[in-house]
Amino acid sequence: MQWIFVGASTIASQHMISAVRAQAGSDVTWIVSGSGDRTAKWADEHGIANSTADLAEALSDKGPACVYISSTNEKHHDQAMAAIATGKHVLCEKPLGMTLAEAHEMVGAAKAKGLVFGTNHHLRCSGTHRAVRDIIQSGQIGKVLSLRIHHAVHLPENLQGWRINDATAGGGVIPDITVHDADVARFLLGEDPVDVVAQMAQSGMGRGVEDSCMSVWSMPSGAMVMSHESFTHPFAGTGFEVHGTMGSIFASGVMTQMPVGSVTLVTAEGRREIPCSDHSLYVQGVADFTAAVKGQGAPAASGSDGIKSLAVALAVREAAQTGRKVAIEYGAPE
Ligand code: NDP
Repeated sequence: MQWIFVGASTIASQHMISAVRAQAGSDVTWIVSGSGDRTAKWADEHGIANSTADLAEALSDKGPACVYISSTNEKHHDQAMAAIATGKHVLCEKPLGMTLAEAHEMVGAAKAKGLVFGTNHHLRCSGTHRAVRDIIQSGQIGKVLSLRIHHAVHLPENLQGWRINDATAGGGVIPDITVHDADVARFLLGEDPVDVVAQMAQSGMGRGVEDSCMSVWSMPSGAMVMSHESFTHPFAGTGFEVHGTMGSIFASGVMTQMPVGSVTLVTAEGRREIPCSDHSLYVQGVADFTAAVKGQGAPAASGSDGIKSLAVALAVREAAQTGRKVAIEYGAPE
């Protein structure tokens, strides 16, 4: 299966090219980026046969069936719409778009053409997150009362560009990390947040956009979710805790791109480490997407999942901006 990559990005070079190449018979045959010179060099460095600054040129190649989009956030919508118009399946980075209307349009267009659309929410592909979801679904912790997500990190220096200073490119910790946490909560608990209260701050890195956020979401079951994201916390560590009427789950070091961290289950019977698969999150995500394109199963995170995580993130930002509780509007399903 041939892929067109749109966006000569860090995530593409660090994780996604190798994730595609890990699938039998798959390769990246085009890289499309904003600058012709940089793109050609990038293609050379990564062993990609074709490069261009002209998206239409790559899309006119009938060989690739799939397009992966990892440009800056404001470009996702138009690039996805162009790919879908030429009949390509799309795996798009989060957040899908700058607005909910953009996200709905992308996912609706793919559905109308019978194409697979996936959102690259990698965390639901990890062995730790899948193990926790299985424990919750098995009933071992009883009724879930609360979920606390700790996702305050220190943004590496090489990523301290548009994310911390450019709202027009979709910068800010809310579109960057809260959107992932929304997907994690939905994946683990199997329900969609109803409303949010939130506060955000510029705590030393953000210039014109927030670099820290704390929010609380209510779930239809009555469970409460507390979520903390930041770019400015070098030593906080990441993880989440799920607390139920019969037990608690402590997942430590698991809000990350790597297959690391630990999961501990505590019940009246005692404390137990849960064995988790250490497969690559991104290889798993591309495997699920590839299978869906071949007619087997669905992407790990669908277009609808991408719409919903964006809806939560947009509501968090509105709640932080206004100081009010915001009801989350997801829009009609495609
Ligand atoms: P980068 O900042 O590395 O790259 C994004 C774009 O910026 C590139 O596509 C390119 O634009 C431009 N760019 C990057 N480096 C240079 C340079 N040296 N000179 C000129 N232009 C440059 O993006 P990230 O990899 O950090 O993020 C890309 C997308 O992926 C975002 O949507 C982000 O939210 C998402 N992401 C998802 C992750 C996940 O785990 N699911 C993890 C990290 C990011 P152009 O191609 O237009 O020329």
